[in-house]
Amino acid sequence: MEQNLLKKIISFSKRRGFIFPCSEIYGGFSAVYDYGPYGVELANNIKSAWWKTMVQENENIIGLDSAIFMHPKVWQASGHVAGFSDPLVECKKCHTRIRADHFLEEIGIWADEKMSEIEINKLLDENKDKLKCPKCGENNFSKAKKFNLLVKSNLGNFTSDWDKSPVYLRGETCQGIYVNFKNVLDSTRQKIPFGIAQIGKAFRNEITARQFIFRQREFTQMEMQFFVHPEKAKENYERWKKKRWKFYLDNLKFKEKNLKWHQHKNLVFYAKEAWDIEYNFPFGFKEIEGIHNRGNYDLTQHSKFSQKDLSYRDNKTKKEYIPYIIETSAGLDRTLLAVLTEFYTEEKLEKGKTRIVLKLPKNLAPIKVAVFPLLRNRPELIDKARKIFNSLKPEFMCEFDDNDNIGKRYRRQDEIGTPYCITVDFDTLQDNTVTVRDRDTMQQERIKIEELTDKLHKKLNNN
Ligand code: ATP
Repeated sequence: MEQNLLKKIISFSKRRGFIFPCSEIYGGFSAVYDYGPYGVELANNIKSAWWKTMVQENENIIGLDSAIFMHPKVWQASGHVAGFSDPLVECKKCHTRIRADHFLEEIGIWADEKMSEIEINKLLDENKDKLKCPKCGENNFSKAKKFNLLVKSNLGNFTSDWDKSPVYLRGETCQGIYVNFKNVLDSTRQKIPFGIAQIGKAFRNEITARQFIFRQREFTQMEMQFFVHPEKAKENYERWKKKRWKFYLDNLKFKEKNLKWHQHKNLVFYAKEAWDIEYNFPFGFKEIEGIHNRGNYDLTQHSKFSQKDLSYRDNKTKKEYIPYIIETSAGLDRTLLAVLTEFYTEEKLEKGKTRIVLKLPKNLAPIKVAVFPLLRNRPELIDKARKIFNSLKPEFMCEFDDNDNIGKRYRRQDEIGTPYCITVDFDTLQDNTVTVRDRDTMQQERIKIEELTDKLHKKLNNN
């Protein structure tokens, strides 16, 4: 895989309505993107696949949708105000700001955002001669400093000094889960072990915008926090590691060779264990999901700062304890980019022709079925095709297309990954059958209209 593929995916995503640069008519807005008509469908289908495996299929996992704005003390308790930062260096000539650990990584020096300022500055000094500003080429940088990633807001502050007591846009979705731990316990019949799942936006002042939707300042997380007895933490950690790995293979149909485990050696002080699942992006293996054993840090901190007891009482043993938390934290946008990378295919056809096909698993396809009348200037074909389209539309995401020749319409649907195209032709008017063409094999079969809905359901369920 190469960077070239990333360029192709970026232009394909815009051309076919998957991903647009944010506020593009104003020149775009760095590290923020918008999902277009097919992008939003694909994103929703990824979210549904995640929700199904996490919430629907597990009796002891329930959902939550907490607010983006939270009490400012949440971020003090969590440690984000003091320590949620990445190391930043600045070019002294053109003032370009660069994330120091990535800068070192690019010249082949292993570094980590969790390193101390002293450690990272030592590495920068040792490799001074090899570092060049990506903008002006100069080799004169400031010392690395920790840069806080929380995004501030002036919500509800009607004075001009909102910098003194800022409200933040949440830097991760899981804090909304921790502060609702008691509410969920009191309002449901869940007992430990149980989990709370949430999908939602998170915001980070990322130092450098790069690699398309991989690193954004506004992005979506799919997180699940599993509350366990401390003695059961390790076995639950191993179980969730296995389950999350399987999700990418079984539900998203990624090839196993495109996935890799990465263990964090530099852990934040409270973490017991941290592994990432990495995907083979066009720019190399990078994190799509983190699986963390967070110990009892989060609930302990929130108990302390809120003065509310967040311990759990086991009714059988009559013992109280602060649960440990096993976290699975996946990024929707990184998963979507991995899906595009995995399934974007340029396929050679006969007579030197090629086609672009998004070979998506059927559950992820934005449009499931497209309906075409063979010719657009024959009202009887259009009428019949419209009737079929209207009958299928409540069942599946469908598209109607009567523009251009059939070959071009197939290509358009192949590009966006539509599994089935239905053509209404002159035989349809005689025998009430249509052709159903398969995206991957390009084979066509004739199916009776009255059996169409059932057969399409069966085909689409057979992922
Ligand atoms: P990185 O080391 O790449 O900055 P991280 O370790 O800070 O990522 P986590 O805090 O573990 O990431 O967040 C969990 C998940 O949220 C990540 O695995 C990723 O999929 C997603 N994520 C984090 N930051 C971003 C971002 N800036 N843009 C898009 N997705 C992100």
